[in-house]
Amino acid sequence: MGATVWFVRASVQEPVEAIAAKIRRLFEAAEFGKLAEPGELVAIKMHFGEKHNDTHVQPEMVWPIVQSLIARGAKPFVTDTNVLYRSERSNAVDHLLLAHRHGFTPERVGAPVLILDGLRGNQEFEIEIPGQIYRKVSLAAGLALVDVLITVSHVTGHIAMGLGGTLKNMGMGLSSRMGKLRQHSASKPYVDQKACTGCWVCIRWCPEDAIVREGQVAWIDPDRCIGCGECLTVCRFDAVRHDWRVESAELQRRVAEHALGAAISKKGKLGCFNFVLNVTKDCDCLGRKQVPVVPDVGILASTDPVAIDAAALDLIREVAGAELFRFAYPHLDGREQLRHAEKIGLGTQKYELVEITA
Ligand code: SF4
Ligand code: SF4
Repeated sequence: MGATVWFVRASVQEPVEAIAAKIRRLFEAAEFGKLAEPGELVAIKMHFGEKHNDTHVQPEMVWPIVQSLIARGAKPFVTDTNVLYRSERSNAVDHLLLAHRHGFTPERVGAPVLILDGLRGNQEFEIEIPGQIYRKVSLAAGLALVDVLITVSHVTGHIAMGLGGTLKNMGMGLSSRMGKLRQHSASKPYVDQKACTGCWVCIRWCPEDAIVREGQVAWIDPDRCIGCGECLTVCRFDAVRHDWRVESAELQRRVAEHALGAAISKKGKLGCFNFVLNVTKDCDCLGRKQVPVVPDVGILASTDPVAIDAAALDLIREVAGAELFRFAYPHLDGREQLRHAEKIGLGTQKYELVEITA
């Protein structure tokens, strides 16, 4: 049997109040209020947009979700995790300053704005999964402590995965730094000797004593390194590198398995929104202004993270005449993440689309 995906047509050309009203109706139709009991903590997981990016989901679109949860007596907060690469989102301080600049303040979203994996992305927990690649995955510590997870995902193309939607928001977006590194990396980090200044900060931070002095520069012992990524974050000279080249299909499967971990941690307590508005070639991690590559479609809601991404892709194909990733990265097949997610029991690609028109 297929999952139910609720859908409302919308466009960013509409007044924000009109979009907010549609989101409220979607929340009610999908019965997301039933996911949370009074007093329960609800993480609303989204992406605040990289510097210069303005096509991400806007704070005003999160407000109606927050208000609907508060009306239920729940305690929502808006959140994301830190990223691996050097950016204003690689530690919680800079990340929150950026979020505030993009309008994600308690005043504008109606709830606190927090980072889920700690100051430097290393607060984590491990959860066992019935995966085909992993037996357990490392996720943001805060996820283990909340009662309910609502994901708010912006559907876009993606340079490595073809598609960035709910599965990516959950899999990569809810992983700890170690989880992200395991998904992205084909190898352990290494030190670029030309860039290393010999400041030795990484040696102090490495939890495994895997970094040693080799003359005037640092060296990482691959046999001791556990791939936690601590050194990547603390090196101020961009001297710690790692190989980001993981084949697209493999990356998508790894992301799907981390998303499975997040779903297992919130069994029966997960609701997903997909915003198929301002659909750009690249995801919101790209630090520059982007233009949409397909017309606006609308907003989707479902408790099934696979079905909601399948529905988003199908709706885009309907309005644009081809798969999203054909417009963005024609050599990639962004549906591999859906196929693998279905295979490991995260959800189904079969769905019934219920359009809300009133
Ligand atoms: S923190 Fe960076 S610059 Fe400093 S020793 Fe380590 S690799 Fe070299
Ligand atoms: S990834 Fe972690 S364990 Fe490996 S060298 Fe860097 S800090 Fe040490």
